[in-house]
Parts: sequence; structure tokens; C-alpha cells
Amino acid sequence: MAQVSVQHDVYMNTPKVLLHDHLDGGLRPRTVLELAFEAGHEGLPASSEEIESLFESRAAGSLEEYLVPFEHTVAVMQTPEAIRRVAKEAVLDHAADSVVYGELRLAPSLHLERGLTRGQVIQAALEGLELGQEQTGMTSRLIVCAMRDQGDSTDVACAAAPFAEHGVVGFDLAGPEAGFLAKAHSAAIDIARASGLHITIHAGEGDGVASIEDALASGAERIGHGVRITEDLDAGNGVLRFGPTADRVRYERIALEICPKSEVDTRAVLSLAAHPIDILFREGFVTTINTDNTLMSKTDMSREFELLSHAKGFTNSEFRAMTLNAIDVAFCDPVTKNEVRSRVEAGYAGLAGP
Ligand SMILES: [Zn+2]
Repeated sequence: MAQVSVQHDVYMNTPKVLLHDHLDGGLRPRTVLELAFEAGHEGLPASSEEIESLFESRAAGSLEEYLVPFEHTVAVMQTPEAIRRVAKEAVLDHAADSVVYGELRLAPSLHLERGLTRGQVIQAALEGLELGQEQTGMTSRLIVCAMRDQGDSTDVACAAAPFAEHGVVGFDLAGPEAGFLAKAHSAAIDIARASGLHITIHAGEGDGVASIEDALASGAERIGHGVRITEDLDAGNGVLRFGPTADRVRYERIALEICPKSEVDTRAVLSLAAHPIDILFREGFVTTINTDNTLMSKTDMSREFELLSHAKGFTNSEFRAMTLNAIDVAFCDPVTKNEVRSRVEAGYAGLAGP
């Protein structure tokens, strides 16, 4: 970050848990440059600063517009070495920000341009996570994404299945929501679930309540973003009423993987001040805080905490509660969860203030 405030510093040293973060949205600018040079990928500026501002200036607009710069990051992640490096650096960077447990994700289908198989992409990502973990002690797992707008989701699920319990913990649907129903990928979801993978689905970001309903009907245990669940809330006459989808998400404790900065960048919400995370949290939704894309949204977990602290006045005990939420709904095994919980509790025990 260009400016590091005292508060950012405090959050940087507080143990955090991350459930929603895309490897292809989190490259270091220097790494984009170096990998682009190696791969002969053209069309990028020559300095890290220019790369950063290129991605940042593209971050305003719709979800579709937000996704455009990924063509560059994906283009430089087409070899096992490049994927391994990006995954390892993601762990190093999050660990330096005191993330103690992270579920990182990528879509293998986007990394096949130079002849890799989906399985090789997953393998390389897992090796990178492992290397990062060895250096830092941060625990990480992989979520494998299929793209809603592509027709190979069963191939993706079949490629991910052998890695269940070997580092891959979840299966996700990502990409444009409108016009690309989760239901169309039910065969892939069945394969993933049968292999022991958990299901999370991006929904309620690029499209509204119907998209969240569609994700729930498709077996989502968590919803990526889900902020537009507020379209199923009615605050008329000063009383908050819940529609059927909001009711279901709340009572079935379907977690929302909220990514505040990114949701402003994609215009899923208009501003951080207008972000409904405080309402969702206080009304009992299982709310978690995430980064989504550290490069595209120029963020990290500490920055998300800091932005929310300014915009919403969340206290340390509220951040602790949302971190514990994230552990509860993490896709890892119970022993790992207990270890992570202990690290988080120990970190918050040392914090001053409410
Ligand atoms: Zn995402």
C-alpha cells in the first residue's frame, strides 16, 4: 500500500482468515511483468507502477468490465512454473499480512493455452501453495472454479476430484452470472460433491436474488459475494422484513463471502458507505470478509478491515466474530479448523480495546 496507517498496521498483525481470493487476480505487479517478458506476452506497460495503475483504472464499472484485465494475468499463467510462482507468492503475501488460513482459487480452464491439462494446472497451484506454506506456516487450501460461461464444467470437476483431501477442498462456479445459470452445471456439481468437495458459488454480485436462489438450488454451501441478497430485504415502515431467499440464507447459515472493495469496484454496491455488510452481519447472516482480487482491487485483508472500520465502525470484537465465522464455514477438516481457531483467539486476546 502507498500509505500505511496505524490502523492498517494493527490489522496487519491480527490473525485473519480468507475464504475468497483468486490467484489470477492477485499477482504482484513485478511478477506480471517478469512472467509477461518470459512468455512474450505483449500489450503491457513497462513498470510495476504502471501495471498497478492499469489494473486499478480498469477496476471501475461493471463485473464484466472488471474482468477484462484478467486477460493479461491469465496470459502469463500458462506454464506450471508460472502458476506455481503465482500461488507461492500469494501465500507469502497473505502470510505477511497475518492471514493464518486461506482458501485460494483458480479456474483451470483458463490456463490451457500452452497445452497443460486441467489436472496439471491444479497440481502446479497446489505445489505453489505448499511452497508458500513451508516458508510461512500459513495454512492454505485450493478451491477449483469452473466458469459459468464455458461448457467444460464436468471436465473441471473430474480434474479436481482426485485432489479432494489432497489440498483441494472446494468447487466453485465463477464468471458472468446473468444468462449463465448455476443449474446448467448440476452434473459438474454432482461430480464434485461425490468426490468429497464442498460447493461455493459466485452469485448475487453480477445478478440479483434469482441468481442466489439458483445457487442455493444447485447446492451452494457458501455464496461468493451474495451482497444482492439485500434485494430480498424490505425496510419499509422502519421494520426489516426478510423475503424467502434471505430467510433461507440466514436460517440455513449459508455463508456470504463478502469482498467489500471488489464489490464497490464492480458496482455490485455503490460505495463502501452504502455497503450492506453491517446490516447483514448484525441481522445474523454468516458474514465473512475477503479480498477477491488483491491486484485488481488494490487490496489485502488488512486494507479490507481498515476500509470497513472507517465506513462501518466495526470493532475488534466484530472483526473477531466475522473471522470466527470464516473458520466455522471453512472447507478444511475439523483438526485444521481447531488449530486456526486457536491462532485467531490467541491473536485477539492480545488486542486492546473492544
Ligand atoms: Zn470471486
